[in-house]
Amino acid sequence: MSFDPNTIARKSVLNLKAYSSARDEFQGTARVFLDANENAYGSPLVDDFSRYPDPVQNELRFRISELLSVDSENIFVGNGSDEIIDLLIRVFCEPEQDSILVCPPTYGMYKVSAATSAVEIVEVPLNKDFQPNRNALKKAANEGTKLLFLCSPNNPTGNLVNSDLISQIAEEFNGIVVVDEAYIEFSGTNGFLNRLVQHPNVLVMRTLSKAWGLAGLRIGLGFASEELLGLLRKIKPPYNVSEAAQQLALNALMNFDEYVENLDLLIKERERLSTELSRLTLVEEVFPSDANFLLTRFRDSQVVFNTLRDNGVIVRDRSRIPGCERCLRITVGTEKENDTLLEVLEKMQ
Ligand SMILES: *Cc1c(COP(=O)(O)O)cnc(C)c1O
Repeated sequence: MSFDPNTIARKSVLNLKAYSSARDEFQGTARVFLDANENAYGSPLVDDFSRYPDPVQNELRFRISELLSVDSENIFVGNGSDEIIDLLIRVFCEPEQDSILVCPPTYGMYKVSAATSAVEIVEVPLNKDFQPNRNALKKAANEGTKLLFLCSPNNPTGNLVNSDLISQIAEEFNGIVVVDEAYIEFSGTNGFLNRLVQHPNVLVMRTLSKAWGLAGLRIGLGFASEELLGLLRKIKPPYNVSEAAQQLALNALMNFDEYVENLDLLIKERERLSTELSRLTLVEEVFPSDANFLLTRFRDSQVVFNTLRDNGVIVRDRSRIPGCERCLRITVGTEKENDTLLEVLEKMQ
């Protein structure tokens, strides 16, 4: 399949002359840098953050390239996945004219970002088994449908989307398919990354916020063709990822063994928590999870939510979302945190 993202990008983005920063204009070494209005007198901090960060995050991208066996040219680093979602919408969707497709129940930021840019949101609900409805998506798409968001594992349902189904949907869709894999590491599968070469209209999104435990650093990752990522780079703020975040993320990514240890522990706890929750009579169903949370249907979710809250345990109420009636989304905590949750629930029986 051949696909040129430039053919569906907004005219204003294609015509735009990208901002050229001081570091874009001079990249070599020199004795003295007096070109970026940085403050050579330093700051009241011990660590030196007086220089602007690398606008293209080379070190970070090289390390990610090494870890995931993806060319660094096919990696984009964003200020969280949320920035990547927003950039995609602003590159491809003409306000008051184009639309995006989303498959609820799913992550809320796709809609918020689209609405902020005055881009229409077309909803094609997931099937009963929480897989996307391929035929309905095909019917819902038209010329102005620029982006289709799939979330795998999906938030808040916790299930993986079938990779063959993603391939089929991508082949039938004329815009960009965004596969949000924020939770993929918890699934024990490789996700869609190794199929990317066959699908030039797909962007896989990942993050360091979940499995890597770095939500506070705000590092989101986009994987796609150079052409597609070039469009995102063209409109991104030049220094979108701070020097502190780049350094700390790199340190973490160098410590792969500890990451694997934590991941294994968390997955074991997820399975234990799921088993324990299933045993409770106030629980109707614990949905299978490939993520770090358990969507759980209760007989009376409101009473459970309030009792948990009154005992200092906060979970996410998803009961008002169609398809998630009487459901709470419970993040897998430490063994002790999960025990606290289970104790409160057991006392309610
Ligand atoms: C948590 C989450 C993200 C991560 O967002 P960041 O901005 O990278 O922290 C992305 N997608 C989904 C579905 C999520 O649940």
